[in-house]
Amino acid sequence: MAFDVTRKEKLAALSFLDLPLIDLHIHMGASVAPHVMWSIAHQQGLRLPVRDYWEFLDLITVSENKVHSVEDYLGILHKWTEKIQSSPAAIERCTYEIISKEYRGANVTSIELRFNPMKRNLGGERDLDHIIHAALRGMDQAVLEYGCRAGLIFCMAREFSYELNEIIVDKAIRYHERGVVGIDLAGPETDPIERDPVALERYASLLDRARAAGLGVTIHTGETEQTGPEGVAAAVRRLRPQRIGHGIQAARSPETMKILREEGVVLEICPSSNVWCRTIDGFEGVRETLQRFVEASVPFTINTDGTYLLRTDLMNEFRLLHEHGILRPEQMNECVRRARAASFLA
Ligand SMILES: [Zn+2]
Repeated sequence: MAFDVTRKEKLAALSFLDLPLIDLHIHMGASVAPHVMWSIAHQQGLRLPVRDYWEFLDLITVSENKVHSVEDYLGILHKWTEKIQSSPAAIERCTYEIISKEYRGANVTSIELRFNPMKRNLGGERDLDHIIHAALRGMDQAVLEYGCRAGLIFCMAREFSYELNEIIVDKAIRYHERGVVGIDLAGPETDPIERDPVALERYASLLDRARAAGLGVTIHTGETEQTGPEGVAAAVRRLRPQRIGHGIQAARSPETMKILREEGVVLEICPSSNVWCRTIDGFEGVRETLQRFVEASVPFTINTDGTYLLRTDLMNEFRLLHEHGILRPEQMNECVRRARAASFLA
């Protein structure tokens, strides 16, 4: 009964929201419940640097004294969650748990779950196809049980070589018919390809191949000052993504916002992630950024980025925007409608 009350209370607080919701930007490495990760780590016999579950919880979720930047955030992913998820059994369970939990906990009935399969194969020790098939099995199971819609997005890594990223795109194309719906570029924005014309050209032709095969293209860019609004503009012009992960730096440039509006590129905004990673100055910064996008008619959506790592879910993101008076109810519902229209799910 307690669960039921919580759900009702949650729904009542956001009664203006047109449910169900859709999450376009959620990472595998940041969205599995800690108790599930704990269980998987034990099943695999992994030695963990903690004495008990509570220390583990602290290890794999954000906290004030641990996360001050995107690099700190990615560090948690890289050091622990990716390692724990690096087996077919682990990735199958993680995929299943995320999709089903977002349905039960946040009324998310459509979800595009992203991850980098090459960060789940222990540097080639595990077979990539086994990892991908396992993720598809986990997704199928959740979709069958809950009747929701789901697809996978494969993330290339900024820190990977072009050759490794090409393999990821080839795998995404190969598994498109099975449920891989898009391709992404993620990772730290240090030394961004947006500022390297040669790299930009190579990635542009790689993404053309992905597009021609029917995959959606989204790019993490403009999350930090390292890419800046110029990087966002360069990514839009050369890489031609339908969507951009974050892109908040664009708010600093009327010119970049104009490009986004004219090209109809949809931003995947993840408020809590930006606040925790300090790429934005608290919820006041979220307000200022979204206000500029509203004024410049830049299309944006609201997403989680990572639920458990960031201690949030999609309903909570809307609740935060509501409580801080950042968006009006009709603007939030417009975000949900826009996310449906911009989805890569067939
Ligand atoms: Zn992200």
